[in-house]
Amino acid sequence: MADDSIAVVDLDRCQPDRCSYECANYCPPNRTGKECIVTRGEYFEEDEPYDGGPDQIRISEEVCLGETCGICVEKCPFDAIEIINLPTELQEEPIHRYGENAFALYGLPVPEPGAVTGILGPNGIGKTTAVRALAGEMVPNLGTYDEEATWEAVLDRYRGTELQNYIERVREEEVSIARKPQYVDQIPKQFDGITSELLEATDERGKLDEYVERLGIAPVVDQPLDTLSGGELQRVALAATLARDRDFYFLDEITPYLDIGQRVTAARLIRELAEDEDKAVLAVEHDLAILDLLADTLHIAYGEPGAYGVITDPKSVRNGINEYLKGYLSNENMRIRPDEITFHEHAPRETTKSEPLVEYPDLSKSYGEGEFSLDVEAGTIYQSEVLGIVGPNGIGKSTLAKMFAGGLEPDEGELDFRLDIAYKPQYIEIDQPMRVDAFLSSITDDFGTSYWKTEVANPLQLNRIMERNLDDLSGGERQRVAIAATLSEDADLYVMDEPSAHLDVEQRVQATTAIRRYAENHDATVMVIDHDIYMIDLLADRLMVFDGEPSVEGHARTPQEMRAGMNDFLSDLDITFRRDERTQRPRINKPGSQLDSQQKREGEYYYS
Ligand code: ADP
Ligand code: ADP
Ligand code: SF4
Repeated sequence: MADDSIAVVDLDRCQPDRCSYECANYCPPNRTGKECIVTRGEYFEEDEPYDGGPDQIRISEEVCLGETCGICVEKCPFDAIEIINLPTELQEEPIHRYGENAFALYGLPVPEPGAVTGILGPNGIGKTTAVRALAGEMVPNLGTYDEEATWEAVLDRYRGTELQNYIERVREEEVSIARKPQYVDQIPKQFDGITSELLEATDERGKLDEYVERLGIAPVVDQPLDTLSGGELQRVALAATLARDRDFYFLDEITPYLDIGQRVTAARLIRELAEDEDKAVLAVEHDLAILDLLADTLHIAYGEPGAYGVITDPKSVRNGINEYLKGYLSNENMRIRPDEITFHEHAPRETTKSEPLVEYPDLSKSYGEGEFSLDVEAGTIYQSEVLGIVGPNGIGKSTLAKMFAGGLEPDEGELDFRLDIAYKPQYIEIDQPMRVDAFLSSITDDFGTSYWKTEVANPLQLNRIMERNLDDLSGGERQRVAIAATLSEDADLYVMDEPSAHLDVEQRVQATTAIRRYAENHDATVMVIDHDIYMIDLLADRLMVFDGEPSVEGHARTPQEMRAGMNDFLSDLDITFRRDERTQRPRINKPGSQLDSQQKREGEYYYS
């Protein structure tokens, strides 16, 4: 086959006992007697270790005709095969390949003392693989998976490059690493005990107390870990990672479950660690406003998730994010997406409003003497609008949703309606051993219709996970299933709490499209609570702003148009955004900078 293509067989999906090897039967080279698709048992020597069962398939990349043929890809009923022409621009050999017909990684990020290096790209593109190599946990095999991998060979490849010194140190086992995992929800399953016990064991630089204070986790340190919320766990995990004294820190997504103020604080603490302590930090992040604030340089990761991934040379953060949004990488001459992702420079004009869905009076609710209390300003919510809900965690957003649903009575003010609400919670617990398709078809009769596929399943990329069990899904997969399940319900009002959590940028944009289209086509009203400002910008028609003191008292303002809403929200946070000259995307201003002061004086925090 053309040297520039690879065949990838997903051994979790290849089920030879449930098909009749149609891939092999139809493969053109096989039909002329060549050995292109064979069974693994037939191919490998008996004493040679190989992955997968002896009846699963192995595709010879030498014989295969490449992507232009692709017959086996179409024939496989389980979507187990991918045949991919690698971009011709990609001239190097892989840095690592997990095996024959397995995932291949090209390129490595460059950790740099004193700097935060960002990685931006989809899930499943090899970011963790790259970090395992940089942490010395795995010797990259340079694509020669049938020979023993050595650091000498890796060093030969990187001699004379920015990575040479770093790799020499990894070879000498001189690099120590601290890492924050992507899925903080898993932490209580690994550590059983009180939060302070976990934290104290990490205090290697005497900075723990400061981190606990600045991240606002002092109130929970005496609680057992398994009683913490996702946002609390995220901040505990961050404190525990940053408090270590290591050479290299790897942070896999810092923003899920954090509100915007907490996100900005987390980004500042990480920057201080790199700058003041001369540490190397590598961070994967999908909230672009925060990534922009956090990183000094940026590697873009692109490719085909699950098949191959390419990590580019470092770019400036501004340029890297701009190119990513444009969908075209200039140095690499690589298109990574057909369309550009764009933002409104000016506040969208107020659209003519549809019929009101509900009109509500001033409301108040207190959970009891000395407990949290909420005041709500009267307002109107319209049919087929997407209402963005912004404000800190613990400020009463779910409390209001519960009152609208009729599950909670206000102390003052009367609600003369009771809405059927489809609700997607922030933390998704769907741990039943049930298949995704069975779960979704139990929610809607539309399941499987072409309409449902176009509107819900395709934009949320559910096809490849339909046959998986709910309890085997990753955080991002679970999020997409939960969004689909909520949109599939029959309801008056759809409330989505943090749909962006654990989705990569592409998936955020696709989820945004799915939610907006659903609202437009169904005259459905959607309330979206989210802390990713880009997602709110792309999604919302109007904004409802919550402020107050988290866990003590909250205040919900009446829904407003985007400009006034953003100004209220961001002035509470004391954050202004400027516009990137080339792409008009919003960027957080440096506090106290000329633009920051000017915008604050003019009261324009977001739109120009
Ligand atoms: P990311 O961190 O970008 O989500 P990973 O580096 O975890 O991506 O994984 C990239 C790909 O490599 C995934 O498709 C995964 O299935 C595959 N992979 C990871 N570990 C192994 C392994 N030990 N053997 C074979 N494939 C693997
Ligand atoms: P948000 O959705 O903005 O994060 P919530 O409405 O869930 O906020 O909670 C606001 C505050 O009310 C929190 O401090 C929470 O602990 C408290 N709270 C929520 N439900 C109850 C309840 N049933 N009893 C007492 N306090 C509660
Ligand atoms: Fe055979 Fe390759 Fe064609 Fe698949 S893509 S049928 S392996 S030649």
